Amino acid sequence: TLDHHPSGRHFLQIPGPSPVPDRILRAMSLPTIDHRGPEFGALGLKVLAGLKQVFQTEHPVVVYPASGTGAWEAALANVCSPGDQLLMVETGHFATLWKKLAERLGLQPEFITLPGTCAQTGLPNAWRHGVPAERIAERLKADTGHAIKAVCVVHNETSTGVTSDIAAVRRAIDAAGHPALLMVDSISGLASAEFRHDAWGVDVTVSGSQKGLMLPPGISFNALSPKALAAARTATLPKAFWAWDEIVEMNQSGYWPYTPNTNLLYGLHEALDMILGQGLDVIFARHQRWAAGVRAAVQAWGLPIQCADPAVYSPVLTGVVTPEGVDADALRKLIHTRFDLSLGTGLGKVKGRMFRIGHLGDCNDLTLMAALSGCEMGLKLAGVPLAGSGVAAAIAHFAAHPAPTAG
Ligand code: PLP
Repeated sequence: TLDHHPSGRHFLQIPGPSPVPDRILRAMSLPTIDHRGPEFGALGLKVLAGLKQVFQTEHPVVVYPASGTGAWEAALANVCSPGDQLLMVETGHFATLWKKLAERLGLQPEFITLPGTCAQTGLPNAWRHGVPAERIAERLKADTGHAIKAVCVVHNETSTGVTSDIAAVRRAIDAAGHPALLMVDSISGLASAEFRHDAWGVDVTVSGSQKGLMLPPGISFNALSPKALAAARTATLPKAFWAWDEIVEMNQSGYWPYTPNTNLLYGLHEALDMILGQGLDVIFARHQRWAAGVRAAVQAWGLPIQCADPAVYSPVLTGVVTPEGVDADALRKLIHTRFDLSLGTGLGKVKGRMFRIGHLGDCNDLTLMAALSGCEMGLKLAGVPLAGSGVAAAIAHFAAHPAPTAG
C-alpha cells in the first residue's frame, strides 16, 4: 500500500526485470523527440549498429515496442505457414509458453521432453536439464520428408536456471542434414550469458530489454539470418505489425514504419555504450563468477540447485529448491516483507517448490551479498534447517576470485 515506505533501497533480485542503472534511467528521462526528425535517424542507426555487436551478428536486428512475448510471436509469424510443424524442447515454463503461443497461431509444435521425476527433489527431470541435442538430431533424421519447419529452443530457461548449448543444437541440425530453421529464445541470456548469433548458426534470436540489457521492460528483438529473411518472403501466416520486411527496409535510414519507443531507445543507446565499453567477454565472465558465488552459498546451505547438470548451470540466475513441506512462495513473501528483497517465484510445474535468485544486470558483489543475506535470514526465520552459512561461503568465493577486467 502507499503508506508502506521502507527506508533504503529495494533489492530487485528476480531474474528480470533486472535493476536499471541510474545512467540509463537518466538517459530515458530526456524529452521525447520527433521520430521522423533528423536527430532520430542518427539515434536509430547507432542503436541498430550496437545491437548487432551484442547479438554478434552482421545481419539485421529488428526492434519491437513489445515485451518478449511479442518477439516470440514475431519470430514464428514471419517464417511459418499455417499448420507448419515445429520441434520444441520442454526445458521449463518459458519453453512451455512459447509452445502454447505456437499452438494458438495454428502451428503444430512437437515437444521433446525428459520423462520422470527426480527422486531427490520431486521436480520434473525436464525442468532440471538443458536441451538434449542428440534427441533433436534423432528426430530430424526420422523426418525424411523435411516437414519440420523450425527447431525452437530456449537458451537461458529463466524458470529453471539452465543455459543450453546452442552450438550443439546447430550441430545436431547439420548432422541430420535437415533444412529446419534454428530459432532461439535468448530473452534472459543476451548480454549476460555468452551468445553468438552468427557463429552458432542461429536463424532467429528472440530477446528482450529487461534482463541483460538492464533496461525496463517494453522493447524486444528478433535477430535474423539471411535464411530467415528468405523464409519470411514465402511464408504465409498473416503478418502485419510483426512483418520484418518493412521494418528492415526503413531501418536502413534509422527510422521505423510506426512510432517507436523513443525513450527506451535512449536507454538502449546508453546501455549499449556501457556494455560495449566494458566488453562482452568481461560481462560474460562477471556473470559466471557471480553465479559461482551464489551456488557456493546454496551448496553451503545444503539445498539442491535446481539445475542438475553443472555443464549447463546458468550464469544469469540460480534456482534453489526448498525442502519438501517448505512453501517457497511463503518464504519469498516473508523475505520481501522483512527485508524488502524480491526473489523470483517458482513458475508452472515447480510453483511453491523453489525460488530464483537473479544475478544479472546492474549488480555487484555487495548487492549480491545483501541478497544472499536476505535469503539466509529468511530461511532461518522460516525454520528451514541449513547445513551451514551460505553468506560465509559466498564471501569466501568472492574474496578468492577477483572480478574480471578488460584486457
Ligand atoms: N522467454 C524467457 C526465457 C523469459 O525469461 C521471458 C520473461 O521472463 C519471456 C520469454 C517472456 O517475455 P515477456 O514477459 O517480456 O513477454
